[in-house]
Amino acid sequence: MFGRSFRIARIGGIDIEVHPSWLLIVVFLAWSLSDGVFPEEYGNWSTAAYWIVGSTAAVLLFVTVLIHELAHALVAIRRGLAVPKITLFIFGGVSHLSRQPRSAGEEFAIAIAGPATSVIIAVVTFVAWLGLRHVESHVAAIAIYLATVNLLLAVFNILPGFPLDGGRVLRSIAWGRTKSFRKATSIAGTVGEVFGYGLMVSGAALLLSGYAINGLWFMLIGWFLTGAARGEKQALQLDSILGQLKARDIMRETYPTVLPSVSVQEVVDRHMIGEGERAAMVARDGAVLGILSVSDVRHLSRDEWANTPVQGIMTPRDKVVTVTAALPALEVLHLLGERRLNQVPVLEEGRMIGLITRRELIERLQLAESLGHDHQDGHPTDGPAPS
Ligand SMILES: [Zn+2]
Repeated sequence: MFGRSFRIARIGGIDIEVHPSWLLIVVFLAWSLSDGVFPEEYGNWSTAAYWIVGSTAAVLLFVTVLIHELAHALVAIRRGLAVPKITLFIFGGVSHLSRQPRSAGEEFAIAIAGPATSVIIAVVTFVAWLGLRHVESHVAAIAIYLATVNLLLAVFNILPGFPLDGGRVLRSIAWGRTKSFRKATSIAGTVGEVFGYGLMVSGAALLLSGYAINGLWFMLIGWFLTGAARGEKQALQLDSILGQLKARDIMRETYPTVLPSVSVQEVVDRHMIGEGERAAMVARDGAVLGILSVSDVRHLSRDEWANTPVQGIMTPRDKVVTVTAALPALEVLHLLGERRLNQVPVLEEGRMIGLITRRELIERLQLAESLGHDHQDGHPTDGPAPS
């Protein structure tokens, strides 16, 4: 939606990523603290002090947001979910769970851990401020700022805007009542979207009434919320189409296979231009040696195509990303996106039995969508949920 996130750290096996928009927001925050909030509150500091305290407070706010996310991750891991990565925005982040929670109770526990942690941080920093306010005014200023913002963070995150924690709490309650994960997600997603638009409209109103910084904040958060709520509903839609399928259900069993000694020119002419294939398997006596894809060919200059055998430029077997036949189709889709692959061979007991191409998968999704296809028999995790 707004570009890719990049990794800044790895904590306990979890990749910590930040979103490009986050950099902009940290700079904006440091500036608004150093040039607005602190000079207004504390009139007698030097300019350098405002900027040092302002920037430190901005960075520490980011650290407390990270602790909030790690709290979600910890509860999730304790309950047996894997958390491969956390993507941070300034007012929270997204802990990427390996699967959806299995029960309303599980979702509730994971969701509530974050705001509860923010409340604890608010209390601790408030106590620090009580002890420091007559001793060290700069540190005390940071402490009371963190206390205030973490309290706001807890309140903000518990608002019923999906996919905020409050949205997840809302979904877990709706899930417990309706006994349907799908219905509950749809309810929470719609509430989140409406809520996001509401924030954007309020932000515009504030902006027009002269509260520029608050207005911009509201609009920014509203914009993020509507986008995130839409994303969550789209994910649900994908899940409803692909949710029941495995890699073996979406692969095709025929694909071009060539000998390693064949020239690149021949593969291009016959299979790529001729049949519109983006890749050919390179094999001898039934054993796969590698894969020759359009991107491999692109790296070779055109006048060498005729006298280069495919084994010279193919991606060798050990570098080819593969999936097992039993892998859920949704995970195949994520893998293709994440690794930027155009195709992935499907293996069963180490033997290649099919090929999944990104183009075909997307065509099928579009087809299913235009037919309004949906697995009405419910989400695999539907069922009686403890609440
Ligand atoms: Zn949270």
